[in-house]
Amino acid sequence: MLKKCPICELNYLRGSETICRVCASARVKRHAPEVQETVMCSECGEKPALPGHDLCEDCLKEQKRQANLEVLADKIRADEAEDPLEEDLESSDEEE
Ligand SMILES: [Zn+2]
Ligand SMILES: [Zn+2]
Repeated sequence: MLKKCPICELNYLRGSETICRVCASARVKRHAPEVQETVMCSECGEKPALPGHDLCEDCLKEQKRQANLEVLADKIRADEAEDPLEEDLESSDEEE
């Protein structure tokens, strides 16, 4: 004997359910709207991520540090790339 969910009247109840699973999960959400789900840092998985981020404070700092390092490395690489070009031009000038 299948009973229908009294709330949505769409889904059938299973076992000892009084409301269907869809309505049950909707209720849970409605009852606890203020409780923020704690998302763990996707990097270290040990600390809760900051709101709006998927990384914790430490990993965000580390990410920023790495980003700065990459910017620095790019600058250094750009500088290094320029130097040999100039040398090549100079040496080819001498050869000609
Ligand atoms: Zn329902
Ligand atoms: Zn982390």
